[in-house]
Amino acid sequence: MTENNKALLEVNKVFKAYSEDGGLLGLFGGSKRIPALNGVSFSLAEGEIMGLIGESGSGKSALARIITGQEKADQGKVIFAGKPVTGTDLDTSAIKRNLRYVSEEIFTGLINDPKNKVQRLIYDLISRYPPADSGPSGKTWADEVFARVGLKPEYMERFPNQLSGGEKQRLAIARALMLRPRLIVADEPVSGLDVSNRTTILNLMKQFGRQYGTAYLFISQDPAIVRYFVGEGRCAIMFAGRIIEIVPSNQLFDHPTHPYARILLKSTTAPSPLPAGALEPAELLRQEENQRLAQANIVPQEISLQANEIAATKPGCPFYNWCPERFERCPQETPPLLTVTKRRASDGQIVPLPPNEINPNHQAACFHYIEL
Ligand code: SF4
Repeated sequence: MTENNKALLEVNKVFKAYSEDGGLLGLFGGSKRIPALNGVSFSLAEGEIMGLIGESGSGKSALARIITGQEKADQGKVIFAGKPVTGTDLDTSAIKRNLRYVSEEIFTGLINDPKNKVQRLIYDLISRYPPADSGPSGKTWADEVFARVGLKPEYMERFPNQLSGGEKQRLAIARALMLRPRLIVADEPVSGLDVSNRTTILNLMKQFGRQYGTAYLFISQDPAIVRYFVGEGRCAIMFAGRIIEIVPSNQLFDHPTHPYARILLKSTTAPSPLPAGALEPAELLRQEENQRLAQANIVPQEISLQANEIAATKPGCPFYNWCPERFERCPQETPPLLTVTKRRASDGQIVPLPPNEINPNHQAACFHYIEL
């Protein structure tokens, strides 16, 4: 977000921990608390598309639930369109209409009660939160969006637990798009879809964003999907419950700065989740390079959970144990997320950036690349 853009969403020093057993014992201090978020802060502008990349356990889904009011933060604030999101029924209908969460998990636990039929989940929502603008609305509009995400009219008679994972994702996307909200937080929105259908749905979401000015926080552990959706927007990388880099997408994929971001992107050796024709040439080249780097000796998936605990119990950089660039300062202090002022030169030296190359949209939490 540039300094001139008005913030639509502000996330300020958000902390969250869960009890180890996920149950009531945690309330009475009887079980260990596992940290999920360790002081996350960032902002998003009106109409902006931002990607959020992280391994499983990095905290990205906890962050999505807190931003959208599904859960409360232990500490910190989320401000949407100037109003606090509290995670309680006090949240106004303006927030609920304009800030929507796309995740397959929102249908978890819905039982076969007639009030939970797909048609009720669609028609009640559009009736309770009609779009704020003067564009199309009502049942006809809801039917149109339902069809555009690829759901057949007869699915209206079903219950969510009769839908496949991909159909639930289409339903969640339809419920968000039809309200024309100001922000959609989409957590792995197309992971359950066939490869051939992913670009169709991603393109539809992008088209709605352009047409209606919808901002997106697009969350995935798959960098290729995020890159495709975000285009030239910003990406944030999460590690151990923290954002460790925020950077324009092209810069991230061409020249990642943070040591963890470099390892995360280089270790992505899985085949592309998108059809070949949907990938930029640079992405194809990156994937070829990744195949050659398949013998990387650090596996991000294996360190994510260990790092969460380290981040909450020890001072210093949470990536210290695995970092190929660590030095004596790293275990002493935790690097804050600050504007990048230094870079690694081709000979491996860290050199100051000329003032005209310092970009306020590029922040990192690494002592090599920031000034304190
Ligand atoms: S602060 Fe130190 S340990 Fe952390 S990523 Fe940077 S160089 Fe590595």
